[in-house]
Amino acid sequence: MTTSQPLLAGLGGVALGPGDAGYDAARSGVQRSYLHRPSVIVQADGPADVRLAVRRAAQQGLTVAVQATGHGLNVPSDGGVLIDTSRMTEVRVDPASRTAWVAAGARWEHVIEAAWEHGLAPLSGSSPDVGVVGYTLSGGLGLLSRTFGYAADHVRRVDLVTADGESRTVTPGEDLFWALRGGGGNFGVVTGLEFALFPVERMYGGGLYFDTEHLPAVFRAYREWTATVPDSMSSSIGLIPMPDVPGVPPPLRGRHLAHVRIAHLGTADSGERLVAPLRALGPRLVDTLGEMPFTASGTIHNEPKQPRNFYCANAMLAEFAPALPDAVLDLVGPGTGVFAVVQVNHLGAALAKQPEEANAVGHRGASHVLRVVTLPQGPGRDAAHDVAHGVTGAAAPWTLGRSPNFVQGDERAHEQTRQCYEPAAFDRLTALKAVHDPQNVFRCNVNIPPAGHSESTAFRGSARD
Ligand SMILES: Cc1cc2nc3c(=O)[nH]c(=O)nc-3n(C[C@H](O)[C@H](O)[C@H](O)COP(=O)(O)OP(=O)(O)OC[C@H]3O[C@@H](n4cnc5c(N)ncnc54)[C@H](O)[C@@H]3O)c2cc1C
Repeated sequence: MTTSQPLLAGLGGVALGPGDAGYDAARSGVQRSYLHRPSVIVQADGPADVRLAVRRAAQQGLTVAVQATGHGLNVPSDGGVLIDTSRMTEVRVDPASRTAWVAAGARWEHVIEAAWEHGLAPLSGSSPDVGVVGYTLSGGLGLLSRTFGYAADHVRRVDLVTADGESRTVTPGEDLFWALRGGGGNFGVVTGLEFALFPVERMYGGGLYFDTEHLPAVFRAYREWTATVPDSMSSSIGLIPMPDVPGVPPPLRGRHLAHVRIAHLGTADSGERLVAPLRALGPRLVDTLGEMPFTASGTIHNEPKQPRNFYCANAMLAEFAPALPDAVLDLVGPGTGVFAVVQVNHLGAALAKQPEEANAVGHRGASHVLRVVTLPQGPGRDAAHDVAHGVTGAAAPWTLGRSPNFVQGDERAHEQTRQCYEPAAFDRLTALKAVHDPQNVFRCNVNIPPAGHSESTAFRGSARD
């Protein structure tokens, strides 16, 4: 029996309070710059547990935070209820309707494997470790997004527990259905999500890794190259200062890499033709391009899995202007001695189109998104935050707004959140928030305040032991 168990009679899962064995492990996710400090963690087994946890929070006037993996933690719980959904990993694939239904804690890796058995693939992103629900509620920019659009564009149904502790099924035509697809975790705890899958068994993809001396030319050329490719080609470039430590493969160790990532929905021949101008830019330290099953899609970006401190900022760009590569390189390029991982994703094509059933995802006119990841020392605003915002600031003349999946909390969070949406969409979201969560119980997130509320209730600084 844990200290918190009696207060949640009937719980199928586990309740943990500070001091209980397992409390520290349960509150820790991938993002380690911040740490939740909830008064109780509910490791939910299903929707009934989620309802209990939300009702308990309502009775006690506490906030409700949700964590599946901790990849997107940006406003930690401080004394509230934390619902840990990591036990809820059920995935059901219906090959006839080409859909999947997942429970709240499923990761993309679970869906990729289950769908592949039927020759299908989801609109998952760079890392199969990321949680399906958190990713999708804030848009979900996938490896194949230029061909199919955002993950949020293909949601069919949302099973939700709202702030009153009731379960409801949200379907097309409802205001909440519009808001949930793009509005993040602001409107309740999602217990299940149904979405479309796509007939993709194999694709052409992988990575081109160029050495430091080629990085500036590759960055500039990538900008031009993206203007020439068809909708079947999705890609990004990463500028990555690799640490000079054991564990990093020797050809990459200590190098400032230009890493071009490719996901092309077409034959190997057509893929080879499309990437030929990139390969012609110079020798590659590593070249992994080729035909691959979708189950290997995580190798395209090959992102680290370990928990770590990181801070990210982003800018949705109206255009990838010719002046931008050099402006970025002047700030954080090789030789500057400033650590930052820069990434530019190519957008447009299907991402530019509102789905038939419109949603809250913003800035469909963006041609690219610039993302910057830095390594802060601690939870408060520090120099690493300013480096990240310095780089996105260099893109200010071309910036339409932000993407909520890559926004992180500090004092700038409110303004950044507002910038994720078109003004009319933001007003509609705040009005719906006032109806469905008037007390802003769900505020440990990229927070949309209820209309009429002070925005200062959401981000309350830092929490780390
Ligand atoms: C290595 C890495 C790679 C990434 N790649 C991509 C990418 O390719 N494309 C992209 O679009 N994004 C990407 N992201 C961003 C990612 O989509 C967000 O960080 C997302 O919030 C992660 O969701 P999660 O459930 O894994 O994380 P968590 O930290 O567990 O959850 C993040 C937030 O999602 C909300 N949430 C989660 N579950 C629920 C629920 N059941 N009900 C209501 N709200 C919920 C909550 O607000 C929660 O605070 C990446 C992030 C990382 C760290």
